[in-house]
Amino acid sequence: MPFICENVECRAVLARGQVRSIRENEGWCFYCPDCKVRNALNDVGVPGGPVELIQPERSDLPHKVIATARPLEDGRYAAQLRVQRALGMKGTYAVEEHWEQLGIFLDAQEAVAHAKSIAADLLDRKA
Ligand SMILES: [Zn+2]
Repeated sequence: MPFICENVECRAVLARGQVRSIRENEGWCFYCPDCKVRNALNDVGVPGGPVELIQPERSDLPHKVIATARPLEDGRYAAQLRVQRALGMKGTYAVEEHWEQLGIFLDAQEAVAHAKSIAADLLDRKA
């Protein structure tokens, strides 16, 4: 099994020989050679035996939340939201949910803030 970088923006698939696993105070980990993000590893080897490192299972793959404000003809803004779940491959996302219009706001920043708060609720509920 290759390792997969947990950084949502990266998701690099790395052969074991490509990464250097190191032991830090918090435990084993490797640093992604592409994006330098720390990825935790678990040692599942028998005590006293050779170290056997696996990447911890993540039941919830990372999400990417895209909150935007779409300008309307009357000068107001519609809050829009896309919540994507990453697949176990580099650079691919499965679009899970998509809202065209979550409400109309006078201000673009308010619209984006509204879309983000809905995203936070959604992600909380699923966790
Ligand atoms: Zn990475």
